[in-house]
Amino acid sequence: MTVSVWLDPLADGEQVQHPPIKADLAIIGGGVVGAACAYLAAARNLKVVVLDAGQVATGASGRNGGFVLRGIQSYYQSCVKQYGRDLARYIYTLGERNQQLLKEALGDQLAAIDYDPCGSYLLASSLEELEEQALSCTLMREDGFAVDLLSSDPLDRGYYGALHNAGDFGVNPVKLVRALLQKSGAQVLEEQSVRQIEHSNQAILITARSEKVICDTAIIATNAYSPALDSYFLGRLQPARGQMFATTPLKKKILNALCYANYGWEYFRQLPDRRLVLGGCRQPFLEEESGAADLITKPVQMALEHYLKDHFSELAGLAIEYRWSGTMAFTEDGLPLVGELPHLPGVHFAVGCNGHGLGYSMGLAERVLASSLDGNQVGYFDADRGAIYTAGRAVNDISSGHKFGSEKTAALARSPQRARMTGEFEIGP
Ligand SMILES: Cc1cc2nc3c(=O)[nH]c(=O)nc-3n(C[C@H](O)[C@H](O)[C@H](O)COP(=O)(O)OP(=O)(O)OC[C@H]3O[C@@H](n4cnc5c(N)ncnc54)[C@H](O)[C@@H]3O)c2cc1C
Repeated sequence: MTVSVWLDPLADGEQVQHPPIKADLAIIGGGVVGAACAYLAAARNLKVVVLDAGQVATGASGRNGGFVLRGIQSYYQSCVKQYGRDLARYIYTLGERNQQLLKEALGDQLAAIDYDPCGSYLLASSLEELEEQALSCTLMREDGFAVDLLSSDPLDRGYYGALHNAGDFGVNPVKLVRALLQKSGAQVLEEQSVRQIEHSNQAILITARSEKVICDTAIIATNAYSPALDSYFLGRLQPARGQMFATTPLKKKILNALCYANYGWEYFRQLPDRRLVLGGCRQPFLEEESGAADLITKPVQMALEHYLKDHFSELAGLAIEYRWSGTMAFTEDGLPLVGELPHLPGVHFAVGCNGHGLGYSMGLAERVLASSLDGNQVGYFDADRGAIYTAGRAVNDISSGHKFGSEKTAALARSPQRARMTGEFEIGP
């Protein structure tokens, strides 16, 4: 975020009253990735400070579906085709490790974060998708991953079959982030948008809205907002909007798993209070849904309502109580970026979650901590990978559907308010 001379309290004579806060590690961004970094750093006995521009978990981490999946946006078979077998295995192994680490971290608080060990159905919306699932199932089993292929629709709602991942689980993502941060013991500074990161006397000086932090190491975990923080991320990350809604609570439970359909373009689940949340339907609107503006649009919300009506006809006319959006960050090859800013040694980053940050969080945190604090190689997600992973597949053919190279940067018009527009677009019975 840029700051005009008129908006800077320091330029207007207001001085920061206290000296910079000293820390071993500063984490910029209090979403799930920043929180995971803080949690894992706690085991190292470091003084950790987390800075967030707003309140923690008000970025994408507090606006998602709460699906903690092992897989990513591509089926295993596609991953093997695009990334090669070793990397595909690595991605899914990391997903399982992330699930395990989250459960261990929150073991005594799983109920408090609405942990739902219900597993997931990846629902096939076409025969072609079911064929891809069958191939994926075979390859996954060969590589030691537990998975079931269902050749008929487990929901009886017009799907062609499904992959069943018993280990996937649902959470309340806001409670998850808050719990990780609370357990980390890190000092959390909210409403502290970082404006400048620089070297000062062999340390890193971070200037935020009204606080300064001086630290040995910094980690940027600002995902889709990163291009506004440092121009290094321009063209490397494409911000894109995802929209969702939540119905009023249903009378009874009708879903017993997280549901991810049509290659993940649509996703839905039922919450503990029996509300149904549904998201996605942005595939026909990729151009309109690029960028980081926090808004809901009539075409996508209508498409979500039609989807609900088509697959849950008994719910037609049900009131929609919440509608919202969040901003994801896509990368050219669909994989995260972990690295160190070339112009600011000591400032590391873990960004580019490609719509799966809950599934990556602990895995990315482990990678970036190991590289920033221990000097280990980043490995597959190294932002300097140069040759991006595109074996057998066109760069722009990844399921994010986003085109790269346009240098079109986001208008970062974020608003902390939740969009609550009860009934406005509702489709009748
Ligand atoms: C509608 C929707 C549904 C989704 N569903 C799922 C799902 O079910 N499962 C899943 O795994 N993923 C899902 N995702 C993706 C997931 O939400 C993200 O990948 C994940 O939240 C990214 O986490 P993060 O911590 O990297 O970034 P964010 O959660 O976006 O956090 C970044 C933080 O950085 C802060 N920040 C930005 N700029 C600055 C600055 N200058 N100074 C200080 N702080 C700053 C922001 O305030 C924000 O809190 C979904 C996303 C959307 C939009």
